[in-house]
Amino acid sequence: MNVAGLKKLTYMVNTAILIMVFGLMAFFVFAKAKFLVWFSIPTALVYVIGYILISRGKLYEYVVLVYSWITVYMGICTVCLGYDYGFHLYGMSMIPIIFYTDYMGRKIGGKKVNPFIFSGLIVIFYLISSLIPYIRGPVYMADKSIARVFWVTNSVIVFGFLIFYTNVLIKMTIRTEETLENMALRDNLTNIPNRHYMMRCLEETDKSESAAYIAMIDIDSFKSINDVYGHNAGDMVLKSLADIMKENCKDFSISRWGGEEFLILITEKENQKLSDDYLKERMEKLRQSVEDAQLEYEGKDIRITVTIGVAGKDGWPTIERWVDAADDKLYYGKNNGKNQVVM
Ligand code: GH3
Ligand code: MG
Ligand code: MG
Repeated sequence: MNVAGLKKLTYMVNTAILIMVFGLMAFFVFAKAKFLVWFSIPTALVYVIGYILISRGKLYEYVVLVYSWITVYMGICTVCLGYDYGFHLYGMSMIPIIFYTDYMGRKIGGKKVNPFIFSGLIVIFYLISSLIPYIRGPVYMADKSIARVFWVTNSVIVFGFLIFYTNVLIKMTIRTEETLENMALRDNLTNIPNRHYMMRCLEETDKSESAAYIAMIDIDSFKSINDVYGHNAGDMVLKSLADIMKENCKDFSISRWGGEEFLILITEKENQKLSDDYLKERMEKLRQSVEDAQLEYEGKDIRITVTIGVAGKDGWPTIERWVDAADDKLYYGKNNGKNQVVM
């Protein structure tokens, strides 16, 4: 979540709490809890100030002010009405909010809250405010059935907060893991899967019974492209070749195996039997597309060719030997004129 997202979430939470404060104020009027009616006015003001702080991006100040006030407000409600109302439960919903705020503060690089100090203070406040009415009874007495309604409502709200924030935190963790995994398995120059990803695919394929082939693709005389046009031109060529492969090999798994070598995995699909002829035809088409491609870097035309070595899965004891077999075919092609497919 970015700053804009965080601001939106904070606005939503602020509005929800403000509505709740007015609702409670109405109840305090009805219950003739005079002090709480008056206390609702500065409370509502705090949330109005909250809007100003959010709009100015002062989220740290917002959290410190608003959440400290909620803790005090709920504590005072508990002292006045007794813990039968369940106002003290709000302390619990503060905990994930504080840790979430600390996390976002670190991420955005703003000020940090110390979640343990805040949480400790909440626990102390929770105990004091619930023990006072326990020892000397609440200030205002109200009907037991009203207290029960509040107990249920407050419990539901507190659980709602806990569920909402836990969900936000878990979703965030999942998204972060996905991003990291994606980064670890993708080549950042060509934006196609990298060797680690392809190794996983090869291991999967190795376990299955169905037929499979790999094609090792190597750019011919690539070193001279770097030498003549520069390293950046070489990078552009690698990206362009990845694009040509994406276009030509939509039904195959492609990867950048390393340097200027790419590895394609072709597995048998239910409705399509693989054969040497089919493989030859598809790889020949890819080779031709590369040869025909008119690449351009800073106004200069660059032409490239590739040599492709193809090897079937059967007969090799390990994945490494299978890859070596494709490599051997590739080197045969390199030593026999390049720009060709060797089966
Ligand atoms: P051959 O036809 O035999 O394959 O010759 P070659 O020049 O393509 O092969 P060689 O192995 O001699 O050179 C590969 C070059 O690829 C050397 C290296 O600098 C270059 N290279 C590897 N990775 C990258 C990269 O990410 N970007 C660029 N620009 N060059 C790279
Ligand atoms: Mg090479
Ligand atoms: Mg090469």
